[in-house]
Amino acid sequence: MITDIRGFVAETWAEGIRDRPSLNIWEYARKYLHFTPKMGNITGPYDPDLTPYTKLFQEAVTGDFRNIPEDDWWLLALLERSQRVEECFVVKSSQSGFTQAAINATVYIPQFAPGRLLYVLDSVPKAKKVALTRVIPFLKQLCGKVIASEQDLTSTFIELLDMIIEFGGSYSAGLFSEKPLRYAFLDDVEYMVAEGGVAGMLDGVHVIDHVRSRFTTAQDSFLGVFSKPNLESSDFISNANAGSQHRFYVPCPNCNARQVLLKTGLYYDRKECRDLLGRYDLDAVEALTTYRCNACGHLIEEKWKPQMNAAGIMLPKSKDARRRDEDPALVPRRMSMQISDLNSPFPKVKWGILARMCIEAENNPAKLKHVQTNHFAEPWKEKAINLRAENVRAVIAGAINPKTEKHFPDDLDGEGRLKVPRYRRGEIPFLPAYVSATSDVQGDKFKWTVCAFKADGTCALVDYGAVLSTNSLFEMTLDPRSHTGDPYVCLADPARRFQLDHGLIDSGDDTYAIYDFCIRTGWNWYPSKGVGGLDAGGQLVFGRADLYEGTPILRYHYNDYQIKVLYYKHKIERAHDPRYPSPRLYFPEDIEDDFILEQLSESLVPVVVRGSTKMMKWIHDKKMGPNDYGDAMKMQFVIWQIVGPQYMAPPSKPESHP
Ligand SMILES: [Zn+2]
Repeated sequence: MITDIRGFVAETWAEGIRDRPSLNIWEYARKYLHFTPKMGNITGPYDPDLTPYTKLFQEAVTGDFRNIPEDDWWLLALLERSQRVEECFVVKSSQSGFTQAAINATVYIPQFAPGRLLYVLDSVPKAKKVALTRVIPFLKQLCGKVIASEQDLTSTFIELLDMIIEFGGSYSAGLFSEKPLRYAFLDDVEYMVAEGGVAGMLDGVHVIDHVRSRFTTAQDSFLGVFSKPNLESSDFISNANAGSQHRFYVPCPNCNARQVLLKTGLYYDRKECRDLLGRYDLDAVEALTTYRCNACGHLIEEKWKPQMNAAGIMLPKSKDARRRDEDPALVPRRMSMQISDLNSPFPKVKWGILARMCIEAENNPAKLKHVQTNHFAEPWKEKAINLRAENVRAVIAGAINPKTEKHFPDDLDGEGRLKVPRYRRGEIPFLPAYVSATSDVQGDKFKWTVCAFKADGTCALVDYGAVLSTNSLFEMTLDPRSHTGDPYVCLADPARRFQLDHGLIDSGDDTYAIYDFCIRTGWNWYPSKGVGGLDAGGQLVFGRADLYEGTPILRYHYNDYQIKVLYYKHKIERAHDPRYPSPRLYFPEDIEDDFILEQLSESLVPVVVRGSTKMMKWIHDKKMGPNDYGDAMKMQFVIWQIVGPQYMAPPSKPESHP
């Protein structure tokens, strides 16, 4: 224990800043920071190896790096230019240990690199709590002689011999203070009090920029901003994307391959995780979830996590990957990093619990957003709707034409009644000839749609949603239910129960997993694939034989270009155009903006192919959002091409509407 810090500090600083202290922040914290039961759940000495991914951030605060991996091109170049990290943006999960990392720095700085420091949290009470329970006790313990007066130990303003520490909530007056800062930490900046609906804004300026303006005269300043992400479009994420984008790479205990742990690696899709009905047994999921190595496929048990973390290193995003992802240009001296709860040492977010949360969040966008942002530290994409959404809204059963403020004439029968009544998701508005399901596979998500078809080709979207495994789709096949978990209700015959008569799934990247699924459903579902015009042999849809482990497979290929024309142009854009009288498509009245937007992200545009030769091409505007629901919807009309004729043929099918 340091006994006379005043003398120690004076001596150290007499020697000048060039001689760095023998211990950097996390080394110092390991030696001197000792948690008492009053401070929280963990007692005993601070262990930097519990959250080793916070070391780089702590090193960046004072520019005191100890082990730089040779692959860290960004940091090596920075140091080669004799520069220091001036800003560090940390996109973190809920249980990551970064608040403690900043507290370590707050305790270290007064002794070894003093300068005015501002620590801002998302609320004043939280700021007081952190100051009183986690910073002041350490300062008293370690720099007793540095504190000028015990009376200055208020929770928001700590005056030490060489420096001032200010604590504030996001609206604290401290942010306006003219006094120049050397250090600032903004903790959970995305969740700071919102002004006019924009988090972190204060008098029209973002808190991050308020604080930046206080660094004007300070040399060697450091701004640390860390937060759970919220929206992709936020200032915080834009700032982080223009930084180095370090990620934490850990080795597989089996093959040693270095990888960033991702949500898609969680493995719980096993027999033991299900009950007799095939539903997830959440206790079993919590207990049995493992992680699948993305290199060797080996299932890694969670007990290896401490060793994996210990051997982990932070590496910046490569220049190639930045180019590919169209990232913003690198801002000089700005480091950024991202860490998820998959690396967290804390039992509250062990892999099994994260897996359980993923399952519970299926089909629930609000929960999905929470799990994605708070636990996987991935920002959420919010989407805007543009004018063309009107085309989609006009397809809603019983829609009102905004120009005439009346129903569209073609929606009405001879007596002025709606041919298909207004209905909600989970409801079937007429007695169907068949009910069909489709699923588009995008990475780890299976977006599904369920439609009801009349024998004349009239189609009603009954419901849609997203699940994370083919097992969930299988459950849906055995016991079809809406996104709310209720059985589908037919407005024309409420007592009738429905099954899925036909299913079509995108055979995707993992074709064999999809084959397994289709075989398991007893060919209730078929694999399918969109192909170019020539591959489709001039046909709209055709079956193709394949063989998988001795089992004959029938895979449906469809002319992607033409099916999109059928769906987007004939079923949506020209829905009410009397010149194109094809069977109608109807949407429920409560379709969400997300769903609408996914129908709008594709457009057919003329593209120059050679010289002045133009060709019409389907372009997917990825910035607008995914097109998975659009893909899943168009596949409904592939099913109609395949099975429609067999329903059209017999004229004796019962019809509910006159
Ligand atoms: Zn491996």
